Amino acid sequence: MKVELIACSRPLPGQCGTVTNLIGVTPNPMRVIEQAASVCYDSKPDFWDFKIAHNCAKTGHLSVYEHIYFTFHIEGISRACLAQLTRHRHFSFSVRSQRYCDESHAEPILPTSTNEDQDGVIADAYDYAWDAYDRLIKDGVAKEDARMVLPNGAPTELYVSMNARALIEASHLRMCHRAQSEIRAMFNAMKYCLAVPSPEIAAMMVPQCEINPKYQYCTEGKSCGRHPRLQDLLATATQQQSEEADKK
Ligand SMILES: Cc1cc2nc3c(=O)[nH]c(=O)nc-3n(C[C@H](O)[C@H](O)[C@H](O)COP(=O)(O)OP(=O)(O)OC[C@H]3O[C@@H](n4cnc5c(N)ncnc54)[C@H](O)[C@@H]3O)c2cc1C
Repeated sequence: MKVELIACSRPLPGQCGTVTNLIGVTPNPMRVIEQAASVCYDSKPDFWDFKIAHNCAKTGHLSVYEHIYFTFHIEGISRACLAQLTRHRHFSFSVRSQRYCDESHAEPILPTSTNEDQDGVIADAYDYAWDAYDRLIKDGVAKEDARMVLPNGAPTELYVSMNARALIEASHLRMCHRAQSEIRAMFNAMKYCLAVPSPEIAAMMVPQCEINPKYQYCTEGKSCGRHPRLQDLLATATQQQSEEADKK
């Protein structure tokens, strides 16, 4: 899998505080959020600590995070992973077309959870599928129809763009340990790409259970066990309340 950030919002020089374009000085996209958010409170933007933007995040006023955009180039993920990614309705996509592109000799994606023997089973199934694809193409079947035999593990390449809010909120779902390892790895790679150009947004890309570092809990029914389940915490609190009421 290859994930690279190819573009992100940049404040223009002279806008959003003093931003120089000298080599080595990269304008932080957070400045745009800080500038936009400051108008809500008639406040002076803090282009050093981004206090207003951070407070907006704390209080759930996340619409101000819709002002900045990121574009990623992604290669070597499976069509199964693509199907999951495209469920995020605020993301914009350009994907390699199986209708127009020749998919012969494509290197399929193997899951990370399988052992060597299981990989052999998967490789055999892939060989069979690609052999059928090649035979259909040779027989004059259109690529858009021949692709029907290709597996979920067929690789793809795409460009995907989204605003920071959409990225942060999708991360809460896809970085959860209950999400599949491939899409989890992809979101971790996106977070890694943002570490330098936009460290504040990278820091906000966490699983749902870690949004608030002080109160970590899992909202899933079946938890991975890293943090207590919200329903168990509430049950314990209710039990304690009724025990205290009984004592009185
Ligand atoms: C671990 C895991 C397992 C999953 N398993 C399945 C599965 O078995 N089957 C399946 O079909 N899907 C499954 N999904 C996909 C899931 O149901 C969502 O489609 C996906 O996570 C996108 O989330 P979303 O719809 O909240 O957000 P997005 O599409 O990213 O939208 C973000 C937010 O915008 C708002 N929004 C967007 N569109 C609308 C709208 N039309 N109306 C109102 N509000 C809107 C909502 O607040 C939404 O949360 C799974 C996801 C995960 C993370």
